[in-house]
Amino acid sequence: MTAAGLYLHVPFCTSVCPYCDFAVTIAGPQRRASYLDAFDLEIGRATARGLRFDTVYLGGGTPSSLGPGPLGRIVGRVRERLDVASGAVWHLEVNPEDVSPVAAESWRDLGFDFASLGVQSFDDAELAFLGRRHGADGARRAARTLLDAGFPTVSLDLIFGLPGQTRDRWRRQLETALELGAQHLSCYQLTVHDGTVFGRRHRRGELDELAEDEQAELYLLAHEILGAAGWESYEVSSFAAAPHHRSRHNQKYWDHTPYLGLGPSAHSFDGRTRWWNRRKLRLWAAALEAGESPVEGEERLDDEALFAEAVMLGLRTAAGIDLGRLRDRFGAAVAVVDEPAVDRLVAGGWLVRDGDRLRPTPPGMAVADAVVRAVLA
Ligand code: SF4
Repeated sequence: MTAAGLYLHVPFCTSVCPYCDFAVTIAGPQRRASYLDAFDLEIGRATARGLRFDTVYLGGGTPSSLGPGPLGRIVGRVRERLDVASGAVWHLEVNPEDVSPVAAESWRDLGFDFASLGVQSFDDAELAFLGRRHGADGARRAARTLLDAGFPTVSLDLIFGLPGQTRDRWRRQLETALELGAQHLSCYQLTVHDGTVFGRRHRRGELDELAEDEQAELYLLAHEILGAAGWESYEVSSFAAAPHHRSRHNQKYWDHTPYLGLGPSAHSFDGRTRWWNRRKLRLWAAALEAGESPVEGEERLDDEALFAEAVMLGLRTAAGIDLGRLRDRFGAAVAVVDEPAVDRLVAGGWLVRDGDRLRPTPPGMAVADAVVRAVLA
């Protein structure tokens, strides 16, 4: 059986960034303590699933803000109570303000292999716009500290498509990441979500989003610069200096491998059914303390829905989709794509067809959602 992925959600942040729509909270020591107790309970409940994991991902929120003691407690409980393979990749999301040589060493000692650093930008004005708590110097220092600590993979998160961001400004972010020696980059387009500070500013007409063609231009610039440096783009937002630096955990989301999510708002998937936990820390913890499941809802996917997802997720990866394998998996009546649309996308340079395999080109990745809609129409 393929090993599953384990996701652990740490919902705490020191302040909430104006563009963030994740399940995060600013909580004092008491709520953090009750979170850790509830986490123990949820890990205990998870043992009954009998899953074996070969990736463990601590995300948030800001897992690095927990400090080595609480982090060590979570890691210890997972190792004690769940079946984690000995070669599993342990992945930690880190914010620059939590990084010091001592902290980095403690994360390595706990067994973390893959550190994702939320630098977002190396430009003070951009960081101020994004409401981040660190500056450009702090971002550079944190990246160097993680690299010096010997993590097998150090990944940097960068945001592009800020209002008014020029090609040169974006180029400088990418070049700085390369100069620092990062081995993986996650490049996210700035998205304005309802319910965030940016969403409210946008509604009031105080915040303009960059036009779609300008966004696409910046996205393609990342392909150009990183490609010239020998990097690979293996998923729409993910770039690796070499194949062994790819995120093995995220790959599970893209190819429908089962994963189990623990913590408030965490999502899980068993190959057919997706379920998700209560989003609010208080309600998630209360359910567990009462001896109840913290799951808020679930959705069973029929073959049509699974096929559509497989196309959507697959066409966001450089490997693309294999229509022959999808027909074997779902049957020829379900695994149907719009062939004339595929031909048009191939002729237009958005897709490449190689027998049964369809792969997105960089321009296709830049408009991945539109490509998927056309293929499934
Ligand atoms: S640090 Fe990350 S998770 Fe926390 S508020 Fe900012 S964007 Fe959201």
